[in-house]
Order: sequence, then C-alpha cells, then structure tokens
Amino acid sequence: MKILIANLGSTSFKYRLFEMSDTDAALLAKGGFERVTEYTPCIEEMLETLVGEGHLLSGEDLDAVGFKTVLGKDLSGCVKADERVLEALDGFKEVAPAHNPAYVEGIRCFQKMLPEVTRVALFETAFYQWVSLAASTYAIPKAWRDLGIRRYGFHGASHKFIAERTAELLGNDAVADRVRRLYVDGPGEYTGDPVRVISCHLGGSSSVTGIQNGVSIGTSMGFSPQSGLPQNNRVGDLDSMAIPYVCKMLGITVEEAERQLNKESGMLGLSGVSNDARDIEDAAAAGNADAQHALDVQIDSIRHWAGSFFFKMGGAEVISFTAGIGENDSALRSAVCAGLEGFGVKIDEVANAQTIRGKEGVISTPDSTIKVVVIPANEELVIAREVYRNVQS
Ligand code: ADP
Repeated sequence: MKILIANLGSTSFKYRLFEMSDTDAALLAKGGFERVTEYTPCIEEMLETLVGEGHLLSGEDLDAVGFKTVLGKDLSGCVKADERVLEALDGFKEVAPAHNPAYVEGIRCFQKMLPEVTRVALFETAFYQWVSLAASTYAIPKAWRDLGIRRYGFHGASHKFIAERTAELLGNDAVADRVRRLYVDGPGEYTGDPVRVISCHLGGSSSVTGIQNGVSIGTSMGFSPQSGLPQNNRVGDLDSMAIPYVCKMLGITVEEAERQLNKESGMLGLSGVSNDARDIEDAAAAGNADAQHALDVQIDSIRHWAGSFFFKMGGAEVISFTAGIGENDSALRSAVCAGLEGFGVKIDEVANAQTIRGKEGVISTPDSTIKVVVIPANEELVIAREVYRNVQS
C-alpha cells in the first residue's frame, strides 16, 4: 500500500512516500519545497517527480495521504480528513496559527487534485483522548472551559510510538498490540503486568508523557504547544499573571508579549546564546553562567514532570528518551536520572555515552529496576503506520 505523508508548514511542503504492509514499511522517496506560497504547484511537481522516478503510475496510484494535524476543536484521533476535520482545524486556527490554516489549505488542495485518494488526519492530540477529566481540566470559569480551553497535549505520534516500542522491548505483546489498535478499537480492558512508561520527547519542542499499559494518563503540554517544558525559543509553563504585569511594566501589547513568549523565550531567552542545545552546552562548558542556568532549568522541568507521572502511576517500569536532544545528549539524560537510585534507577554511563545518533539502546545497568532506554523518533514513519492502520480498519 502506497502512503504519502504530507508535512505542511506555513512556508514549506515536505513529503515522504512509503510502501506499507503488515510487516514492513519501506521509504520509497522523500522531498520538499521551501518558501512555498501555494501548495498546488508543489503537489503537481511532487507527483511529476514520483511518477518520473517510477514510484507511481499517477497520483491516483496513491492509496492514502496522511496529514499530521495539530489541534482540532472538538475533534481528535486518527480519522478520515473530511469536512469535519477541516471545520475542527478552522475552529482552532487562532490557537495554532502556524499549523491549522496550512493544513486546511493543504488538505483542500489534495481533495481537489486527487479526489479519489483517501485522506487521513492524525491529530497530535490523539494520544491523549483517554486522559482523565481531572488531569485535563484547568480551574477556569465555565465560559472559558466551554470555549474548549483545557489540556490537550501534543507530540502524540511520537509518544505513542514510544508506548508501542517500550512494550515490545519489555516483551509484553498484549500492551504492544493494545497500542497498535488504540486509535482503531480504543483502549479496551487490560489486566496483565503493569507497563508504566515515562516518555521524554526532548527536541526543538519537548514534552514528557506518562503512559500506563500503553495509554497516556497525561502530558506536560496543555492547551497549546506553548506550555510544559521550556522549548527551544518558546516559553513553556508560565503563571498567567505575568502577562498583564509585563504589559504594564514594559508598556507592550498582549500581542507583543505573546510574540516574545513565542520567539524570544525558552532556552534561547534563558541562555541568551542560541535556541540550539548544542550551542548552549558548548557555551556552558566554556563557563557561560546563563547557558548553564538554562540547562539547569530545563533539567529541573523534565524531572518535575517525570516525577509527577511517576507518582500518578505509582511507579514506572521504563524511562524513555527520544528526539534530537533525548537521542543525543547523554549528559542531560544522566542529569535527569541523577539521584534516583532510591527508586531503582541506575544509569550505565558507558552505555549512555555510546547511545547517540539515532541508536536505540538500554542505558541503565542490568540491576536497575527501572529500565532507561533511548528510542529514535521517526515521525513520518509513525504517521505512515497509523494511516495504514486507519485505511485497513
Ligand atoms: P524538532 O523538535 O525541531 O523536530 P529535533 O527532534 O530534531 O527537533 O531536535 C532538535 C534539537 O536536538 C536541537 O536543539 C539540537 O540542538 C538537539 N541536538 C541534536 N544533536 C544534539 C547533540 N549531539 N547534543 C545535544 N543536542 C542535540
């Protein structure tokens, strides 16, 4: 089955074409366009390339196109990208201005150009559909809650992949299968051994998620991706009173405050060096106190959220690291897990230092009661798998 994954940015269009089967996922082609103002010519050129390279006979040869949609009003899951999806994206365009309008336009282009090809949307919020009301509700007036303001959570595709892969690594087929079927069948019942995972997705954008027997119980991100851990240049969690206070004291508008929280905050704002973890680490190693402080804040925040899920799940079998920082930064992984011997966490520093650049591996000692693992992320592949399951169901 040929599945195209379309990654739509407000000024970019990237794609990957997979040949999917029950047992295999082969990447056939990938490509992309920058400085995009209209998707239609990009799609035309992409199809020409894919046909020219012999991957497709024509656009209609595609079995499905998958879209990693971010946030929909009153809609989540892995669903056919129909009018309902377009309305849901439009309903929250103010909350995800860089993503939702782009996906509405992109999905419409595919609808027009390849009407017979199935379109599937995988919402980034999908993995959190079964989080309890208590864990997803903010203490705000009813009129605000009625607008849909609550915790949603993001990086759903990535954390769900971790849920599946950690269950496989523990040899728990029932949980691995539960995760695979989650968006098709829902969670159902599970009565086997506990599989509690604290999943740390640490990259340009970061989140920590608690996963119990394959199903998320909560995550650090809330109403928008502007929450939780400090992000590369976005703020993460912030007390709401800071905004009116800053507007008054600095004489800036709410829009300007929002821009600064969106572009000049996070690891960039704290370090004053860069939004890239490598630059910040180099600066910290060279004695830059602000860079070191940024790293300290980041590590404290990861531990804060990890600790919260450890407590809520009554323990953990696995702590997992993924994405650019999680996969490469052994010093940060070590710092996140420091001092947890009392909980049974023991890092094997040699294995930890060697598990970098896309390598999967266990970085805890054999006698560590909580397994600490590194699992490479591959978002497009994760999305292709979900789209394949949706089309098959
Ligand atoms: P995104 O969230 O943008 O998809 P990635 O998952 O690719 O991002 O992660 C990007 C981040 O990973 C950057 O901050 C980058 O500095 C960090 N990173 C990549 N390699 C390393 C490394 N060797 N050590 C520390 N951080 C790294």
